[in-house]
This record gives sequence, C-alpha cells and structure tokens, in this order.
Amino acid sequence: MRIVLIGPPGAGKGTQARFLTERLSVPAISSGDLLRAEIREGTPLGQLAKQHTDAGELVPDELTTTMVTHRLGEPDAAAGFLLDGFPRTVRQAELLEESLAEGETALDAVLAFDMPDDEIVQRLTGRRICSGCGTTVHMVFSPPRVPGQCDECGNELTRRADDTEETVLRRLAVYAEQTVPLLQWYADRGLLLRVDALGAVSEVTDRMCAALSLMTP
Ligand code: AMP
Repeated sequence: MRIVLIGPPGAGKGTQARFLTERLSVPAISSGDLLRAEIREGTPLGQLAKQHTDAGELVPDELTTTMVTHRLGEPDAAAGFLLDGFPRTVRQAELLEESLAEGETALDAVLAFDMPDDEIVQRLTGRRICSGCGTTVHMVFSPPRVPGQCDECGNELTRRADDTEETVLRRLAVYAEQTVPLLQWYADRGLLLRVDALGAVSEVTDRMCAALSLMTP
C-alpha cells in the first residue's frame, strides 16, 4: 500500500507510522527525519534546510521533493510505503503524483490526523526524544524514571530545536496556511480519510485501521 499521513506537528503521525509500518510491511519514510539526518551530516541540503526547520518554516518544495522521491526510488519502497510529513503543500503533492505516475503507480490513501492546537502545544513543548533509540517521552504525561535519561536504553533525552513554544506556534500557523489546503486537494481525488487523533495511542491505531479497513490487531 502507498499511504500518506498528514496532520499538524505532534499529532502522533510518527508513532502511528511505526505501528503501520510493521502491520503493512512497508517502510515509514519521514521527511522531517530525512532532513534532520542531512542537517546532522552537514550536507549542502542540510545546511540549507537548517535555517528553515529551526524557524518552523517549510523547506522549499523542490528540495524536499527531490530528497523524498530519491528515497522512494530505493528497493524497499518498491512495493509500498508510508509517507510521514510529506507532502506538506499542494505543489509537493503535484510533484509526488507526477513522480509516482512515471513509475505507473499512485497513492492508495491519505490519512489526515485531526487534533486541536492547544493539545499540540502542550504535547510538543513537553516532548523529549532519546538520542539513542528514538523513544519519545513527555515530561508531564510520561516522565522518565531518571530525569534526562531514556527508560529503554539509558541514553540522553533531548529536546528538538523546533519544539519551543514560539516555534511550535509558527509550525501550527504554517500548517494552517500551507498544508490544510492539501486536505481538500486529496478529498477531490477521493483519497482522504480523516482520523480523530485525540486519545490513547491504541485508540488512534484502531481508528486508523478502521479507516483503512484493516483488521485491528
Ligand atoms: P517534522 O519532523 O515532520 O515535524 O518536520 C520538521 C521540520 O522539517 C518542519 O517544521 C519543516 O521545517 C521541515 N519539513 C519536514 N517535512 C517537510 C516538507 N514536506 N516540506 C517542507 N519542509 C518540511
């Protein structure tokens, strides 16, 4: 299956993608993760992207699209994929559609996660991520046993540079301006499935499976 996950930052797309990737045996590809890897490695793309990501702004469409379509060309994505965080603009969606059409494929579904802004601000400003295994915790809702340390692997918990309140608010505004129009674009193509992203992870997983007509585990 070829699926796109759309939703405001912090709506749990990454968490649900980790679940769906196992369920469907397709890779989860996060444009944010790909960009952060480029930034860590100090590549020319990473250097360019950093100023945008740090400010909570979008990285230019052509750059993100080239990066993602290149990744989709790898063998593990041939039979399907889950895209998390891409496309984020109508332009990116058009470029993705063209690129898939060249390979005579197309998307099967677009899952849109709905979550109120105040919940997102609370979630993201308290979010910490393990530098070792990538586990996500929340300083209030799921605090680590030892402050600053991952319960799973003991590595240091870090805060994403763009999880400060000011940048989260900017990311939400960017989502409303540039990504929300994409929902109608996909609805017009009969691909859009909406999922209420509030509640426990397992509840959201069940809703997502129901929307995709998958049997729940
Ligand atoms: P995320 O991890 O999905 O929250 O993405 C983190 C940041 O990476 C975003 O705030 C953007 O600056 C950038 N980014 C990720 N995906 C895209 C995309 N599809 N288009 C433009 N910028 C992106």
